[in-house]
Amino acid sequence: MKIEVLTIFPQLFETVFNWGVISRAIKNGIIAFESVDIRDFTDDRHRTTDDYPFGGGSGLVMKAEPIIKAVASRFSDDSKPHVVYPSPQGKLFDNKKALELSKLSHIVFVCGRYEGIDERAMSSIDEEISIGDFVLSGGEIPALLMIEVISRFVPGVVGDMESVINDSFFSDLLDYAHYTRPREVNGMEVPEVLLSGNHEMIEIHRRMESLLRTIERRPDIFLKHDFDLTDKKALLLLFKELKKDAE
Ligand code: SAM
Repeated sequence: MKIEVLTIFPQLFETVFNWGVISRAIKNGIIAFESVDIRDFTDDRHRTTDDYPFGGGSGLVMKAEPIIKAVASRFSDDSKPHVVYPSPQGKLFDNKKALELSKLSHIVFVCGRYEGIDERAMSSIDEEISIGDFVLSGGEIPALLMIEVISRFVPGVVGDMESVINDSFFSDLLDYAHYTRPREVNGMEVPEVLLSGNHEMIEIHRRMESLLRTIERRPDIFLKHDFDLTDKKALLLLFKELKKDAE
C-alpha cells in the first residue's frame, strides 16, 4: 500500500515513522510512505501556501493552486489515489472506515492549516474525514492517527493478525484484560484459568470479560454486537458463576 501526505511540515513525519510497527512495515516494503512538501508546488519566490481570506475575517487560508497541483502530481497512469482531507467537518473516523481504507492501494492525505483550505481545492478531494468533535491546528496529527489505525489492518503490518481481530471495537466488543509475568504483583494474582492450559476455557473467559467490559463501559457498542457461539458459552459460564455466588 502506498500512503502519501501533502503537508507544509514534511519533516514532522520523518521522526514518527522511524519507530515502531509502521517503520517495520516500511522497511519490509509492505507500506511505501512519502511526505510531500506543498511548498514545492508554489510559483513565487517565497513559496507561499496561504493568503488572507476574501471577504475579510480572521486567520489565513491555504491557497488552492499548490494543493491542486500537489494532488495531481500523485496521479500516474497506473495509480489513481483516493484523496482524503482530514477535516473537523468530515464524517467521523472509526475502525470500520479504517478497515475500508486499508483495502485501497494508494491513499493521499492533504493536511490543512490555518482556517483550512480554499474551497476550490475541494475539487481534488474524494473524502473529508474528522477524527473527533474538536479542532486541531493542522491535519498532520489527524493524518498520522488515521495512518496508524489503517496500517494495522494491512496484512503483514502487525505480526499477529489475531491480535488485531481481538482488539477493541473490531467485533463491536472491547478487548479483554491482559496479563504478563510475574504471576503475582503486590498480592494481585493472574486469573487461575489463564494458567490452566485449557484453550477453550481461556477463550470463553476472555470473551466473558470482553462482554462485561463492553456492557459496563460502552453499552452503545454492545447493542450493535452480533452474538456468536463463544458469546453464548461465555454467557452460560457467567450465569453459572452468578448462580454459584447466590447459593
Ligand atoms: N476553520 C476550520 C473549521 O472550523 O472547520 C478548522 C481549521 S483547523 C484550525 C486547521 C486544519 O486542521 C484543518 O484544515 C484540518 O486539516 C485539521 N483538523 C483540525 N481539526 C480536525 C479534526 N477534528 N479532524 C481532522 N482534521 C482536523
